[in-house]
Amino acid sequence: MRDYKTEGIIIRVRDYNEADRIITLFTADYGKVQAIARGCRKPKSRKRGIIQLFTYGEFALYRGRNLDTITQCEGKEAFSGLREDLDRMAFGAYLVELVDGFATSGEPHGDLFYLTLVCLHLLTVEDPELVTRAFEIRIMDLMGYRPHLESCVHCGRPIGGPRVAFSSRMGGSLCEICAGHHPDCQVCSLGSLNMLKQLASWDIKRLGVLKLTGETKREIGEIMKTYISCRLDKEIKSAEFLHSLAGTQNIC
Ligand SMILES: [Zn+2]
Repeated sequence: MRDYKTEGIIIRVRDYNEADRIITLFTADYGKVQAIARGCRKPKSRKRGIIQLFTYGEFALYRGRNLDTITQCEGKEAFSGLREDLDRMAFGAYLVELVDGFATSGEPHGDLFYLTLVCLHLLTVEDPELVTRAFEIRIMDLMGYRPHLESCVHCGRPIGGPRVAFSSRMGGSLCEICAGHHPDCQVCSLGSLNMLKQLASWDIKRLGVLKLTGETKREIGEIMKTYISCRLDKEIKSAEFLHSLAGTQNIC
């Protein structure tokens, strides 16, 4: 069967030829799919408003050797709230770039698909920085990189005291004593480590209830940025754009 149908989220778009677009579609059943939408940039094309970054929809495709072809599509959610707000759009672009970085082709990614859909929606209504921090820790968990936050990753002692740390290289929290022996770790507050733990398990639809100080968000952002770049052999381009928006070095 070369024809198939799937739900998907468009996580990457680039113009091709005069009126086509090549997209990366993220699906629950097949992971990432590279596909071409022919003629979608023509003024009268029905696909024109659908073949855009972030669109969640139903797609009919024809399997090709390197590239599948989109034969029909129906948009279910355009996430226009992301497109209308530059800040939210930047966080959304970062989120789908992370999905593109970690997801594979030809394998089911049901949990990540659901998480991405929920977080894109939350990005339109909640604090986008908080949603992004929660998404980061959860995508790491789903990809098998859940950091060890229950005790010191080096010696196993309980975590406590004012000067604790996170080691991206070792993948978890460090107690006060071990932190001093690992110069490449990131010193942070106990509150940030606890919040990181909470973000990993909290009901994602109730994120708005959590109140984080700017300092906690900044520390968690720094930790996740380093941790993700340690695990992903690829630069996340939109992360730099987020920096420029926030005017800070360490927003994500
Ligand atoms: Zn220790």
